[in-house]
Amino acid sequence: MLVFYGQGAYNKFMAQRTRAVIVDIDNTTLSCDQRRAALCAEVAGRPVLEDDVRQDLYCARLLTSAQQASYFDAFLSTRLMFMDQPYPCAAETLEAVRSSGARIIFLSGRFLRPVDKSKATLQFMRQYGIFKEGDIAIFKPSMDVFDFDFKAAEIESLKKEYEILWAIDDTPRSLRIFKQEGIYSIAITTSYPPARFDFADLIVDGWDEVLARIQRGELIV
Ligand SMILES: [Mg+2]
Repeated sequence: MLVFYGQGAYNKFMAQRTRAVIVDIDNTTLSCDQRRAALCAEVAGRPVLEDDVRQDLYCARLLTSAQQASYFDAFLSTRLMFMDQPYPCAAETLEAVRSSGARIIFLSGRFLRPVDKSKATLQFMRQYGIFKEGDIAIFKPSMDVFDFDFKAAEIESLKKEYEILWAIDDTPRSLRIFKQEGIYSIAITTSYPPARFDFADLIVDGWDEVLARIQRGELIV
């Protein structure tokens, strides 16, 4: 069945959609740097500090390529996940979004198979006041799917239901998907230097900058 809407009806439908923002979890909302440093230290066989792994997602500065593979396998497991910490001001910013009436949609590469990371993640995020009543969390169905493929598919369906105001992510490949979908893209430079985000609509070093923009009315919520 084909349904045609007049422009007025279409505009009304668009205006009625719930406003929402899309938020990544790993190294966007929760810092994984302490966990990454601990896992990197195990593989390297020597102490590694949080600063040593900053903006180096694969620990390429410290590990050989064979070591990087075993480090990343460990990172994909749930081991030491309790070491993750919310970034300063993340909870306050998300609260400002909620209080404006917009919905928070966590869209995460944390997967459901072969190990279900969702339960531990949500429990952890609730504990820190990051995940609250009314929020939505969507996790990757399987480890084998690329984050950006998963996110691209989800954005397509989310756009039908929500008016997406903006999205924030730490990974250039994922953030670019939002940009291509016409969504205002915010890069957070926790995993990559700003130069990697030359396409982004906004580049921030931390959540305090996002909150300040919301408070000044420069970022819509
Ligand atoms: Mg991430």
